[in-house]
Amino acid sequence: MKFALRSMLAALALASSASLALAAEPAPHNVVLFVADGLRALAVTRETAPAMAALGSAGVWFKNSHSLFPTFTMPNGSALATGHYFGDTGVFGNTIYTGFPVPAAAQSVTPFLESDAVLGDVDEHFAGNFLDEETLLAAAHRAGFSSAAVGKLGPVAIQAESEPRNSAERIIVIDDQTGRKGGMPLDAALLAELQAAGLSGEAPTRGDNGKAGNAQTPGTATANVEQQRYFVAAVTKVLLPRFKAAGKPFVLVFWSRDPDGTQHNQGDSLGKLVPGINGPTSLAAIRNADANLAAIMAALQALGLDRTTDVVVTADHGFSTISKQSRTSPAAKLAYADVTPGQLPPGFVAIDLAQALELPLFDPDAKNAAVDYASGKHPSRANGLLGADPGAPELVVAANGGSDLVYLPAANARELAPRVVDALLAQDYVSGLFVDDSLGDIPGTLPLSAINLKGSALTPLPAIVVNFRSQATGCKTPVLCTAAVADTGLQQGQGMHGSFSRADTYNFMAATGPDFRRRFIDRAPASNVDIGMTLAAILQLDVAPKGKLVGRVLREAMPGGKRPKVVAKTRVSAAGSHGLRTKLKYQAVGATKYFDAAGFAGRSVGLDAK
Ligand SMILES: [Zn+2]
Repeated sequence: MKFALRSMLAALALASSASLALAAEPAPHNVVLFVADGLRALAVTRETAPAMAALGSAGVWFKNSHSLFPTFTMPNGSALATGHYFGDTGVFGNTIYTGFPVPAAAQSVTPFLESDAVLGDVDEHFAGNFLDEETLLAAAHRAGFSSAAVGKLGPVAIQAESEPRNSAERIIVIDDQTGRKGGMPLDAALLAELQAAGLSGEAPTRGDNGKAGNAQTPGTATANVEQQRYFVAAVTKVLLPRFKAAGKPFVLVFWSRDPDGTQHNQGDSLGKLVPGINGPTSLAAIRNADANLAAIMAALQALGLDRTTDVVVTADHGFSTISKQSRTSPAAKLAYADVTPGQLPPGFVAIDLAQALELPLFDPDAKNAAVDYASGKHPSRANGLLGADPGAPELVVAANGGSDLVYLPAANARELAPRVVDALLAQDYVSGLFVDDSLGDIPGTLPLSAINLKGSALTPLPAIVVNFRSQATGCKTPVLCTAAVADTGLQQGQGMHGSFSRADTYNFMAATGPDFRRRFIDRAPASNVDIGMTLAAILQLDVAPKGKLVGRVLREAMPGGKRPKVVAKTRVSAAGSHGLRTKLKYQAVGATKYFDAAGFAGRSVGLDAK
């Protein structure tokens, strides 16, 4: 009896405090996070992307926006998902060295992470959640919100990464692999709703948009229209009506592969730096993403959800046109069957380091076969294992595009690191090196901690992050016509990102809705890691961070928010060989850092500008 009374009193107290809390704090609004993959900030105008420009004008337009370096999709996807920098999430690239053979990646130790099955394997190896942080979507789901992630394979799945795969009531994930081998299963009720709306339970492929071409054949001339039409229909015809009917707040992440996939694969400019990613096919991809956003906004309005829903639009990164030029690279002087003579082959970093360090080279993506580069072979996916034993390599190159990751997993890392740095400083395609702090202060380089890459990550930490050179090809706005060296199977004239130029760090960002100011241009720095934190604040989510590398809530963009104090800073390393110094240009709001550009003077677009 005594016990019962006490619990009754406790229940009463709880009820009254809950009603007080309700009175003080209205129920959270809904959130739609729309990610236009690879959309450059300045590529959005009223002509090129009317819906996005209108959203930015009506709400908050973040004019000082930032992708995080390395400027790739999966890393930035992890920042959006968790509000943590990559030093905590451990997603250092789209391709990372995992330290174990990944079954779903044909036993490669350098898997490409944009795969549901690969992510599942990596999770299993690292205690069920390789990010080691709860995602925003999972926290919202736990709090009883409706939640879904729809669109591009990889960054969509990572939004639900911290949820066990076999849980009965999982976050809804619809991506390229839906209904296909290795994809996340749909529950029966949702499948029936899709079919009732005239949609297949199997996502369409990219079709012609997926064709990258080769050194002789141009890539695609088609944007990713059909596949994305399916994803948009799933959102507008099924998920939003379902969320409305559920009567709970909801969070939806929509990840548009366009313009990224099209800018990579476009065949507008084979071999030539101009027009590069500014040709008609890339412009059609920007229009496609814009039309997708417009359709989702229209559905919110038609369902009467527009006034209670915040819509945040961001891009994971900017973009550049690929250059394959180098005067210094030994790899570029060899002949390959599938590479234009004189140009950098895929895997040039691995080949050049193998020669400089006199180590045998093996291909992790071809069952660790030896790579006989002197006879015109290059690593199949640009990654490489260096050392006598590919099963226990001294050096691993995880190739990514506009920057590469170098790992030194053996006991000789401290001895090897300065030699690797020296070999890289001799190459004209390098523009900036970042080295694991624990390997010592190596002249010419800055530490990983300077760019928030050293934190609580579970995955192996790269020893050296290698940024590649970029230059403007001649236009009024250099970030819109930047060409960057890239370690990729794609051709010169196609598109890539991943570098530390402002062209790749400058992403489009805007927001509108009840929690954002109206007609406000935000000139304070903002980044993808801030978006995760800001959405958690808007949704009143209770997330317990493990790592310390977090973004800030963008209060100035909210009603009544104050403009923060911003400090512009530069950090420069000691001079290494050839007199090269890694320079880092960044801004700070309190303890939060925003990395604009980095590299060697004259070799990174945006680094020397005021
Ligand atoms: Zn991309």
